[in-house]
Parts: sequence; C-alpha cells; structure tokens
Amino acid sequence: MNDVLLRAENVSKHFGGLVANDNVSLSVYKGKTHAILGPNGAGKSTLINMLSGDLTCSSGSVFLGNLDVTHLQPNERSLLGIGRSYQKTNIFPTFTVLENCRLAAQSREPRLGAVFSSASNYEPYKNLAEKAIWETGLEGYESRVASALSHGEQRQLELAIVLATQPSVLLLDEPLAGMGSEESFQMIDLLKKLVKTHGILLVEHDMDAVFAIADIITVMVNGSVLMTDTPDRVRASAEVQQAYFGH
Ligand code: ADP
Ligand code: MG
Repeated sequence: MNDVLLRAENVSKHFGGLVANDNVSLSVYKGKTHAILGPNGAGKSTLINMLSGDLTCSSGSVFLGNLDVTHLQPNERSLLGIGRSYQKTNIFPTFTVLENCRLAAQSREPRLGAVFSSASNYEPYKNLAEKAIWETGLEGYESRVASALSHGEQRQLELAIVLATQPSVLLLDEPLAGMGSEESFQMIDLLKKLVKTHGILLVEHDMDAVFAIADIITVMVNGSVLMTDTPDRVRASAEVQQAYFGH
C-alpha cells in the first residue's frame, strides 16, 4: 500500500538463547497511529530498537518506503526520516529548549563539522527548531534550560527534539510514562495533532490512552505478534483478553 511509511518484515531478535522477537511483521501508515500492546518483556522495545537501528535484526528486514534500511545505522535512518525519542537521554540538560532543538535540526547536516561550527548557517536550523517547539506547545519556553522543565515538559521537549529532525515516522516508547493525568491529556492531544502529518508507532501501557488514539493495535506476547487489528476488535478478542489481561 502507498501509505506505508515504515515496515518490519519478519524481524527476529535473539539475545543468546532468548528469542525477544520472533518473525514480527508490522507496518506504520501515514496519518495513522499504530500502537503496540503487550506485557512486560513481550519484545516491544526490542522491536522499536530494530526499527530505529539501535539494535540489529538477527533476521528479517526493515523498509522505509521501498528502501531497505535493515543495515543502516540509527543516524542514517534518522536522516531518512525515522524519528525516535530516547526518554531524556537525548536532552542536553544544561542547554536551553531552543538550543536542544537547534542541535537536533543541525544533526541532519551531513558535514559533521558544521554541527558545531559558528552561525554560518544558523537561521534555517533555528527556524526548524522554532517550528518543532511550536508544534509541541513549548512556545514561550525557548530560553528555559532543559533541566529546569517539569517532567511532562521534558517529555514534550524530547518530542520537539525528534520533530526538529523532520521525521516522517515517529517511534515512541512509552511517551506517557511517569506523567500525571493533566500532562497525559496534553501529550495525547499532541499525538493526535502530530499524526495528521506523520505516521506514529507507539508503545504505551496506558490502555485508555491507547484506545483513545490508536487506529491499529498490535498485541505482542513472548516476542510474537498475537494479533494486529482495529482497537474495537482487539478489545473484543477473547484471545487477547486471555493472553494479555489474564481473564
Ligand atoms: P518490552 O519492551 O515489551 O517490555 P523488551 O523488548 O524490552 O520487552 O524485552 C524483550 C525480552 O528481551 C525480555 O525478556 C528482555 O529481558 C530481553 N532483552 C531486551 N533487551 C536485551 C538485551 N540487550 N540483552 C539481553 N536480553 C534483552
Ligand atoms: Mg519496553
């Protein structure tokens, strides 16, 4: 289908004797939120890591559009449009919101030296950074130092940093983790907005959030896909109830 942005095709990951992903296939579509549900240890993060390139696949392939990216490094995949948030580890705590986003925008610059060079070509990156800040609702916070932001604001900043790299697909591993209900609502609203212009693959434990925003849900158990279907059908599935909810 034309609208497939990112695709895992029969990917497997073995850690020694442990099979963390066993022939997993799924597609992320433009304008759709695809959520992955599954108990702890089901292999959700491993799958995201293979899509982003942080882990190599033991077997199988990853395609971005028609391009086979299976053997590309994370930075190469980022340049091609795979955006992945890293739960705070991509935030420079002593830098401002604007600086964090501008560096992310500049990371697309193929000449590494240019990333840290002076203001020769500063303006376009600043514009990209400001756009990402605006998209995530952080306007007004440009000159705040990242470490001074609340937990929820830091999660917004993680997303802004990813958006500044101009991705077509967003891979989000538990974006609501540790958030209070007000912060969660804001993040859910933000994801609903962002999906209009991106494809989103979301791992999230908050069921209400998943059922509120997912267009497609894949349920993983023990490294395998149990089911990929609409939220209604997933919710109604006796097999999912049994395997995931335990009743
Ligand atoms: P989930 O995100 O669904 O909770 P993970 O993908 O993190 O699950 O983990 C799937 C399985 O793979 C678990 O049994 C976990 O212990 C194992 N695992 C994950 N990463 C590694 C690793 N780097 N080395 C060894 N085992 C790992
Ligand atoms: Mg995980």
